[in-house]
Amino acid sequence: MDLYKTNKVYNDRFIYCVLFKYSMSRILCPNCHRPEKACICAFTADIANDIHLVILQHPNEVSHTKGTVALLAKSLRKCQVLVGESFDDEQGFLQVMAQYQPVLLYPSEQAHVLDEHLITKLLNYQPNTQYMPDTRHNHQVSTEDNSKPLCLVILDATWKKAYRMFMLSTKLQQLPQVCLPDHLANAGQYHIRKVAKKNALSSLEASCYALAILEQDEHDCLPISPEHAGKYQPLLEKFQQFNQFQLSFRPGHKTPLEET
Ligand SMILES: [Zn+2]
Repeated sequence: MDLYKTNKVYNDRFIYCVLFKYSMSRILCPNCHRPEKACICAFTADIANDIHLVILQHPNEVSHTKGTVALLAKSLRKCQVLVGESFDDEQGFLQVMAQYQPVLLYPSEQAHVLDEHLITKLLNYQPNTQYMPDTRHNHQVSTEDNSKPLCLVILDATWKKAYRMFMLSTKLQQLPQVCLPDHLANAGQYHIRKVAKKNALSSLEASCYALAILEQDEHDCLPISPEHAGKYQPLLEKFQQFNQFQLSFRPGHKTPLEET
């Protein structure tokens, strides 16, 4: 059938088909605001995290449809995303600094390896800081003149850009810095994007593991692992499904992408 012939019926059908196809491709999910085909709502979880998460996102990551921050932000009840490269004068970040005691998840040379005793280690180091065991579940530290809840800050960027963000922001450098233990740092399941380092995790995985360790109940004997991440386990499992979903758009997706 020649759709371009002058017969009006065929022309009308052709135009209708084109318009229909175009309008279908423009339908956005009302919840995640992505095209229906790329909707991530089926992969979100509802996680009541105790510790507030602050994601400092490099502008280059904002439009990256394969980024994990959208999934993370939609799944955690206490989460905020601030976009920028330098945060020393960023109003949102200054509010975070005023409201919380931020801890930066960044593998600098000064970083402490996260473990279940880290809250004590990190926040008891000031001479006039008194750690209050009874308030552990509120993740609060009392000092003589200050009592703020803990919050976790992560950088969402490539390694190179994250380093730049860190170097540009004096306030970030002054925060207590933490990194994940090796068994978690090497547990990445993120096969969608090539990562610069073999042990690089997605922002979603790194945040889940770090929060799980920081919020770990003292009665919970099992260490945090990719198979046992407390309340974050459902999100990590959804994330694996999300990976498969994203990979399904790739030609020849049966072969996992080798991370280099
Ligand atoms: Zn959606």
